[in-house]
Amino acid sequence: MKIEKINKWFGDKHVLKDIDLEFPAGQTTVLVGPSGSGKSTILRSLNLLEQPNSGTYDFDELHLDFERNVSRKQKLALRQKTGMVFQDYNLFPHLTVLQNITEGPRQVLKLPKETAEQTAMELLAKVGLKDFANAYPAQLSGGQAQRVAIARALAMKPAYVLLDEPTSALDPELELEVLRVLLKLAQENQSLIIVTHNMVFARRVADKIVFVEDGTIKYDGDPAGFFAPNNPDERIRHFIAAMT
Ligand code: ATP
Ligand code: MG
Repeated sequence: MKIEKINKWFGDKHVLKDIDLEFPAGQTTVLVGPSGSGKSTILRSLNLLEQPNSGTYDFDELHLDFERNVSRKQKLALRQKTGMVFQDYNLFPHLTVLQNITEGPRQVLKLPKETAEQTAMELLAKVGLKDFANAYPAQLSGGQAQRVAIARALAMKPAYVLLDEPTSALDPELELEVLRVLLKLAQENQSLIIVTHNMVFARRVADKIVFVEDGTIKYDGDPAGFFAPNNPDERIRHFIAAMT
């Protein structure tokens, strides 16, 4: 997936400035940067929770140009290719874990109940929660809830899973369970785009690091170069030092 010359304004605030990025399929791209730099806005734009004011997306056969009319059909197609996992899980409180995962596949993908449930059980096993199918979200720890949210995103078979600070609401111990699941997905070549402040995790999971500052991309490349003590960008060296 490739985005080019993306601009986003909130009122008169220019939040994304001519952003060009590629998200290689089968790889993990990690977005890092100071608070307020535009990381969430980039991620939300990829799922069209926010719509850019200008720029283009190219994604397989899909071409979206935000200065032209983006059709409802194109929007839905893009949304199906990008599954979002939120910081605070956003599970449906009145549905069981299994129902949370099968709801989208049944309603949107129109899968039969049995097929959706079988996939959901496989995904629950993958995230280490096969015994929790009939639990309700209120009965789960934060780490468990987030793993259900990841299973729920995967159940829609998105090309990319987008995660915005997936562990920032969790204690370190619970964070680890979620990070393990994400590392496993990355090893299986699931395409991931992750926003995180956890530099140790970023370094470990990323195939590619993107450093966002003030709505622009200041680094786009391999983690080794980003974390190198001799990174020529002093601002990045300071950022890493402050975060680790
Ligand atoms: P953090 O690390 O704190 O999550 P971020 O890099 O994700 O920060 P964004 O949430 O993308 O930053 O915000 C980028 C800028 O856009 C900020 O100045 C923010 O205040 C502004 N902004 C974000 N969402 C909105 C909105 N809905 N309305 C107005 N301004 C917004
Ligand atoms: Mg954010």
